Amino acid sequence: MSIPPPQSLGNGIHLIPASLPFKSPAWVNTYAVESNGGILLIDCGTDWEPGRQAIRQGFADLGLEESAVHTLLVSHLHPDHVGMSGRLVDEWGCRFVMHSRAAKLIGRYNDSPGYRDRLVQIASVHGIPESVTEATTRVDRPEYMPLLEPPDHLVDDGDTVDLGDGRSLEVLHTPGHEPAHICLRDSRTGILFSGDHILPRISPVIMYDFDLGDVLGDYLGSLQRLIALEVGITYPAHGTLIDQGDERARQILLHHDRRLLDMAELVREADMTAWEVMLKSFRPNLDPLQSRLAFLETISHLEHLRLGGRIRVENQDGKVTYRG
Ligand SMILES: [Zn+2]
Repeated sequence: MSIPPPQSLGNGIHLIPASLPFKSPAWVNTYAVESNGGILLIDCGTDWEPGRQAIRQGFADLGLEESAVHTLLVSHLHPDHVGMSGRLVDEWGCRFVMHSRAAKLIGRYNDSPGYRDRLVQIASVHGIPESVTEATTRVDRPEYMPLLEPPDHLVDDGDTVDLGDGRSLEVLHTPGHEPAHICLRDSRTGILFSGDHILPRISPVIMYDFDLGDVLGDYLGSLQRLIALEVGITYPAHGTLIDQGDERARQILLHHDRRLLDMAELVREADMTAWEVMLKSFRPNLDPLQSRLAFLETISHLEHLRLGGRIRVENQDGKVTYRG
């Protein structure tokens, strides 16, 4: 799918897709919200020249001035959303806003060797064969993912980010895909900027990590929240616009319910490590990065089942096996 051109969506909201150095997703949707003569930009992409060029060109094509940007607001701490923040904040001299949890988590984001160490440990505990550990836990820090400075303005759930002229964005803390993830609701239109919390065609990966607790439980709770709020038009950070956000949240919830049922069934039939459950639950021939994501997603499901008392766990010499 080719990258769509920048476009104005009405109500002072402009979509500027910024290309990414990946096959999929191939771009991130950045949104420039224009109000009271100023601009707030939501998300910014990785730090590489084609992405920077896309934003420059997008502003020019839409008749927007980069000098009018007063705020860069980032939905969550992943490189395809926050990677270029340092460069843009320097160039624009704008505010840099994220959820308060990002302030602590930025140390982890900047610590690639520490992340690799945790992955190796998770691999050992959850049954990755030694022959594939090296490839599956490999963490290279590419140039497009420079070390980040922390945001200079932190927000929490329920806070509002003022856009002037009586308009604001309400912050909804929606942890799951990433612990500092936020969605933003426009007070003027009710439109939800959903980041990666809900996406049109895929369900965002929910990655287990040692110290993050029940990440899938957090995610499912964050989906319930969109349903309870009866969210309508939703502008996601990847892919096409969503007409009915609450409906999409319901579909993703069902997807996880099914996966939970299937995985509970698998470990009821035979004791299995998370790696073995992953091999039976995802399509074969995943590349090493896809395998890692599927593996971490599998553990987040198994741990959610375990914490809910639906399956049990056997821990022998630091190796975990799940059973029904
Ligand atoms: Zn993303």
